[in-house]
Amino acid sequence: MRHAQGPLLTVDLTNRTATAEPIDDVLADFPGGRGLNTRLAYDRIPFDVDPLGPENRLYLSTGPMQYSTTSYTGRMSATAVSPLTNGLCSSNAGGFLSRNFTGAGYAAVEFVGESEELLAVHVREADADGTPSVEFEPVEDLAGAEVSAVSDRFAESHDLAAENVACIGPAGENGVRFASIMTSDTRAFGRGGLGAVLGSKGIKAVTFDGDADAAIDVDWPDDAGDVHREAATSDSIMKRQGTASVTELANEVNALPSYYFSERSFEGAAGISGDRVEEKKYKKGTCSACAFACKLPTRDEATGLETEGPEFETVMAFGSNAGVDDIVDVMGANELCDELGMDTISCGDVVSMFLESEDEFGNAELVHSLVEQIAYREGVGDKLAEGVHRAHEEFGAADWSVKGLEFPGHDGRTLNGQGLAFATSNRGADHMYGEFYPYEYPLVGKEDALEPSGLDGKPPKIVAKENRNAVLDSAVICKFSRGVVTDDRLARLLDADYEDLIRMGGRVVELERAFNNARGFDRDDDTLPYVDAIDGFEAGLSEYYELRGWNDDGTVPGYADGDVPAVADD
Ligand code: SF4
Repeated sequence: MRHAQGPLLTVDLTNRTATAEPIDDVLADFPGGRGLNTRLAYDRIPFDVDPLGPENRLYLSTGPMQYSTTSYTGRMSATAVSPLTNGLCSSNAGGFLSRNFTGAGYAAVEFVGESEELLAVHVREADADGTPSVEFEPVEDLAGAEVSAVSDRFAESHDLAAENVACIGPAGENGVRFASIMTSDTRAFGRGGLGAVLGSKGIKAVTFDGDADAAIDVDWPDDAGDVHREAATSDSIMKRQGTASVTELANEVNALPSYYFSERSFEGAAGISGDRVEEKKYKKGTCSACAFACKLPTRDEATGLETEGPEFETVMAFGSNAGVDDIVDVMGANELCDELGMDTISCGDVVSMFLESEDEFGNAELVHSLVEQIAYREGVGDKLAEGVHRAHEEFGAADWSVKGLEFPGHDGRTLNGQGLAFATSNRGADHMYGEFYPYEYPLVGKEDALEPSGLDGKPPKIVAKENRNAVLDSAVICKFSRGVVTDDRLARLLDADYEDLIRMGGRVVELERAFNNARGFDRDDDTLPYVDAIDGFEAGLSEYYELRGWNDDGTVPGYADGDVPAVADD
């Protein structure tokens, strides 16, 4: 199996040391990305860790595909114990950082400890004798700086581009539980509050630079070129509208959460649709090496507002869910979240929750003000910065989260398989973990389409999808490669048997589950605010556990005291 190359670099913020160690044994089992991070986290993070304490470890990694020039590979993976869900959480960002990360020459980098002084950590290619080259730069001048200002600073002081930088905004410094790690200015490791973890360690920014990957020569199969060609010639609507292209369909089939989840369709959907986003798009946007180019640099000529996006989930969270029907207002919230460093889904949902409590749906000015108050923990923003799960009671609102993670779109009350997938996901209510919604809209061909209501026959497909997505996240390949990176191609690109890869993906899901079990997670956490709306939910959940070989209480057998059982052959 192809895998990432190089040692693990451990950056200790308390002692300001950097050490490298080989991890060939782990790389033999996991190609990189989420799988590699998860295996390392399982072994190296104490199960009882405080997510915002010095013993939590944050991992960054790429996979083998980042040595290629193939489309759908401009991404990388981050993993830590989440301050939002309290469980192990992996998040994935696009942009251009991945190639600079591989240039620094490490398969993975972990951050541990904490610094009282705000730091930038500059990771460069190791010296010829393998000694890590890591600079710890005090950056008190960047305290409170917004994301693009951080990039500007390192362009000036270190001649680095935004594509070399991963950083946090004010939200990460202020411990907002859904703070993101931003890279390339506008791309986010968004879900689960990993920006707050970086902030708790006193890290404002990390940069990666070097040419170590130039020495890595991979004999790629023809599939690499075929994938790239098909990405370039695809006529997918996503190339024009990104994921916002699904907004009107979601609205038509009653799967667009609106007015803080009290409704599932929005009368103002036309004002925030993919067509509106396309009207504002002023140039192509992409991630490194990707010819699919589905990103959305947008501009509103009337106000001069520029941002990247909004994608569908942001349209939902700051549009329909907030009762806001003007795409420019949604763009404004998107841009604030990017600059302040926050996940647009969680932030939009918690803002919508507050609008409901104040009967202020549709008040875009208030939305923008709340986003800023949250990032700086000012006024009511201090409470909202805790997220929906911790704050809902104070505002008399329902808890629209799973495992503490706020819901995206693709409403599970309509798309019932996606509903069950929200419940089973180890990182909480996330649409890309099980990514079941394409079957149920459907966004797939007739032969793969599923009736959206009910769970008959769906648990095996949820298991299969979760496992395959764990392979993609470990490889690291973008999930928008649907239909292009086929099962056969995936196996050849990774030089592995497909069934072995799927077993590896299952092992990643299981390791996450075992880690979370050790922190007290069980069946009670695999739930939804609307279980009664899905016929056969409990039976479907039991079937899911049985298919995985787990106990009916949602725990994994064989992992007591941190043991990791061998992978079965079948
Ligand atoms: S398909 Fe879109 S999100 Fe995925 S790597 Fe390409 S440009 Fe980035």
